[in-house]
Amino acid sequence: MFGRAPPKKSDNNKYYEILGVEKTASPDDLKKAYRKLAIKNHPDKGGDPEKFKEIAQAYEVLNDPEKREIYDQYGEDALKEGMGGGGGGGHNPFDIFESFFGGSGHPFGGGGGSRGQRRQRRGEDVVHPLKVSLDNLYNGTSKKLSLSRNVLCPKCKGKGSKSGASMKCGGCKGLGTKVSIRRIGPSMVQQMQHTCNDCKGSGEIIADKDRCGKCKGDKVVQEKKVLEVVVEKGMQHGQKVTFPGEADEAPDTVTGDIVFVLQQKEHPKFKRKGDDLFVEHTLTLTEALCGFQFVLTHLDNRQLLIKSEPGEVIKPDQFKAINDEGMPMYEKSFMKGKLYIQFTVDFPESLNPQQIKALATVLPSKKSTTQLTDMELDECEETTLHDVNMEEEMRRKPQQRAHEAYDDDDEDMHGGGAQSVPCAQQ
Ligand SMILES: [Zn+2]
Ligand SMILES: [Zn+2]
Repeated sequence: MFGRAPPKKSDNNKYYEILGVEKTASPDDLKKAYRKLAIKNHPDKGGDPEKFKEIAQAYEVLNDPEKREIYDQYGEDALKEGMGGGGGGGHNPFDIFESFFGGSGHPFGGGGGSRGQRRQRRGEDVVHPLKVSLDNLYNGTSKKLSLSRNVLCPKCKGKGSKSGASMKCGGCKGLGTKVSIRRIGPSMVQQMQHTCNDCKGSGEIIADKDRCGKCKGDKVVQEKKVLEVVVEKGMQHGQKVTFPGEADEAPDTVTGDIVFVLQQKEHPKFKRKGDDLFVEHTLTLTEALCGFQFVLTHLDNRQLLIKSEPGEVIKPDQFKAINDEGMPMYEKSFMKGKLYIQFTVDFPESLNPQQIKALATVLPSKKSTTQLTDMELDECEETTLHDVNMEEEMRRKPQQRAHEAYDDDDEDMHGGGAQSVPCAQQ
């Protein structure tokens, strides 16, 4: 009783759903559904190979009355277990396709006659980076670009031959691909699909003397085309400008797009973050304490007068903002972000005794802690302050930093607030 349990009832709708037919579908309905789907999803025409395989598998089972009965009763698993005699879906989907369409009725075959409706595959998009300055993005601009691309040969209208005829490639029977079978074990074979060399995947061959004089049978020729890319105010770094259907043309292919991806160049003065602009300005200590004014040339060459309030003191690394002087917003360029100014204060390197005396008389008095008695001083050790470049100091001690970071983590473990406290405690 333990050995072979009767197959459990599993999903027996899937194959019908794949083919998009009712459970009561007649053999004719199945054929029609398979024909349509197999052509549409054939990998040679840009379809998904997995989907193509599924369609072939579903058709192979449902088209066989014996297998269909097993499938309806017990589902897919029963067929996999071999009840259908020979297994359910082990066959090459391309073989099933071939045997269905046969030689003459082949949907991609051509042979000069009508080809029926083919599913057109989509050509690739061509992506170009396009460098733009921050000025361009602030003011908007347009750039003309000359590109060369493939277009269908105007002489043969993309047929490649004078007569318009082509022969089905013998090497691949017009499929464009060949399947080779390799034995990789006593009961295992591997199937490899590769592009046919004879026709380079097109599935057809043109006789030498029938080749089009203009494209030499290539079906396409190169053409120069000028595209005008309109860079609108407020566009962002990485934003795409698309020209639909302007990529390389190819026979039986929906032409892809040309896509320009904006690449914003660094600006020497302004930095951009979203709709905001950032600029750095250095003040002397006197300006920081006593007031300043300066002129900032904006990205549209307007001259902005920037000045402090009377009596205002600017501290090192302090930010100030001007509303509506940032970047224009994309597609609503009447709105603008902020312009932030970060102030650096240039302190004097040293002061002479007179300067110190003069400053001490006007600046707030020294803190009491700096006034030490002789007794207190006697108890202290003398030290020397050295000049350091902190960035360099930190670079020289990466190992020590890593160790400190580890210690910090350890602290967090006991700190209570950290996420590392296990949930099980609640
Ligand atoms: Zn071929
Ligand atoms: Zn031509």
